[in-house]
Amino acid sequence: ATPISVMVSVGRAAQMGILIRNGEALQTAGKMTCVILDKTGTVTEGKPSVSTIEAVNGFSEEQVLQITASIESGSEHPLAGAILAEAERRGIKPSRARRFQAVAGHGVCAEIDKRQVYFGNTALMAQKDVDCAAYSEPMQALSKQGQTPMLLAVDNEIAGIVAVADPIKKDSEQAIKQLKEQGIRIIMVTGDNEVTAKAIAGQAGISEVRAQVLPQDKAAVVKELQERGEKVGMVGDGINDAPALAQADVGIAIGTGTDVAIESADVVILQGSLMKVPEAIELSKATVINIK
Ligand code: ADP
Ligand code: MG
Repeated sequence: ATPISVMVSVGRAAQMGILIRNGEALQTAGKMTCVILDKTGTVTEGKPSVSTIEAVNGFSEEQVLQITASIESGSEHPLAGAILAEAERRGIKPSRARRFQAVAGHGVCAEIDKRQVYFGNTALMAQKDVDCAAYSEPMQALSKQGQTPMLLAVDNEIAGIVAVADPIKKDSEQAIKQLKEQGIRIIMVTGDNEVTAKAIAGQAGISEVRAQVLPQDKAAVVKELQERGEKVGMVGDGINDAPALAQADVGIAIGTGTDVAIESADVVILQGSLMKVPEAIELSKATVINIK
């Protein structure tokens, strides 16, 4: 039978906005040695907005935004949402995209007005043999500010850079501080580039970062740490995070997470605040003491 103290704690957690989906997780939470945090939507607000548009090679800013909005019409990525919102705000209408293809962790490809269009990170450009060496300096500069820059290529020539900014949540820094005080090792994991990832991590007080991790590889990062003896908590919000949440000793889905992510989580944080993670750990420790 479930000890009464666990039932009481599960009830108390619910009042705090922390849904415990299995009683065992409540007891494991206090034993975590390492917490992996996904960047987008976990450390950050998860609502990116367009912060920079730079047009080059004879393209105008409007053209760059129009083409990127057209290609992103078929994408469900949060980055696509930012681009489409900006186009709408400026009254720019997307064209129809043909042969749309999303390249996980890299970007999107399509044919727009009979031109081959690629939009994504430098790795995507390399994959498609688009020479973008001349843009590494502005790309770096934007990344250092914590923005996520993406390159637009039209018929294998760079047409512009579009960057989005996704600020950290207002209590992320405080939550990280508390987790550190609890003696927990903190690692931020993201598909974003290393420079942007480090800038965002720095703002939140996180020193360990794994960047350019493909969506399907996040679970492998969890496993690697477990094999080194860590008891791993994974906090994430996206569909991409479901396998990593399932692999973790404690999978924690945060905020307005997708149904898929919630299905594979042991704990669900309702209001999106990272502060609930150190709070859940405290509660877990108190519960385990009561059981003894
Ligand atoms: P995250 O960890 O933030 O969820 P992803 O693994 O989904 O990141 O994507 C990694 C990188 O690939 C993004 O930072 C971006 O540069 C590029 N990318 C992914 N999807 C898109 C898209 N729909 N449009 C443009 N770029 C994209
Ligand atoms: Mg993601």
